[in-house]
Amino acid sequence: MIGNTENEALEDEVITNYKKVENKIKAAAKRAGRDFNEINILPVSKNQDFNKISKLKEVGIDSFGESRVQELLDKEEEKPGFVNWHFIGHLQRNKVKYLARLDNCRLIHSLDSPRLAREINKRARKNGRVIPVLVQINIAGDDNKYGFSKVDFLDVFPELWKLENLDIRGLMTILPHFDNPEKTRPYFKELRNLKEDLNSNGYEISELSMGMTNDYEVAVEEGATYVRIGREIFGEREYE
Ligand SMILES: *Cc1c(COP(=O)(O)O)cnc(C)c1O
Repeated sequence: MIGNTENEALEDEVITNYKKVENKIKAAAKRAGRDFNEINILPVSKNQDFNKISKLKEVGIDSFGESRVQELLDKEEEKPGFVNWHFIGHLQRNKVKYLARLDNCRLIHSLDSPRLAREINKRARKNGRVIPVLVQINIAGDDNKYGFSKVDFLDVFPELWKLENLDIRGLMTILPHFDNPEKTRPYFKELRNLKEDLNSNGYEISELSMGMTNDYEVAVEEGATYVRIGREIFGEREYE
C-alpha cells in the first residue's frame, strides 16, 4: 500500500515530468527555428486516475488526451467539466453520440474513415455545434494502425471538407515503434508535406498532431503542433 506522502510525491513528479518535456520541446523548437508557442503539449491520461490530472490542472494544464470513449466518459462523470478532452483513439461510430454531447470534448484527432466523418457531422449538427477534427493518416503504411492511406485520403478529402458541421483543422498520425527515433523523421516530414500541399491548394489547415513519448522531439523539429505524451509525463500506466 502506498502511504499518503508517497502518493503526493508521485503527483508532484508529474509536474516535474511535464516541465522536463516542455524544456525538451523548447530546445527542439529552437533547433528548428520554430516558435515554441505554436506547439501544444497534450498529456495523455489514459489508464491514469484523477490525482495526477488534478495536479496538472492546478498548474494550469487543462486539456487531456484519452483513447477510449468509456474511460473518457467515466472520468467526465467523476468531475464534470473539470478539464477539456481530446479524443485520440480509434472511434467507433456508435460511440460518436457520447462525445458529440460534450462541449468540453474539444478535438477529435482520429477521424479515420468517411463513414465516421459523416457520423460525427450528423451528431454535431444534432447538438448544434461544429466539431473540430484532425484526419488520421497512416503515413507509414503500417498494417496495425488505423487511418487513411495517403492515396485514399487525397481522393476523399474534398468530400470530407464539404461536411458543414466538421471543422477539419489538420492531420494526425501514429507511427510504429522504432528503437531509433531518427527513423521517424521521414514520416513526419511526409505528413508535413501533405499538409503543405493541401495549403497550397487552398485548404486552410494548420495542425499536425504527431509525436509521442518515443519520438516527439523529432516530431517537433518536423513541424508538430500537437504532441501527445503519456508515459513521459505520467510514468507507466496505472492500469490497463
Ligand atoms: C497512448 C497514446 C499516446 C501516448 O503514448 P506514450 O508513448 O505513452 O507517450 C499518444 N497517442 C495515442 C493515439 C495513444 O493511444
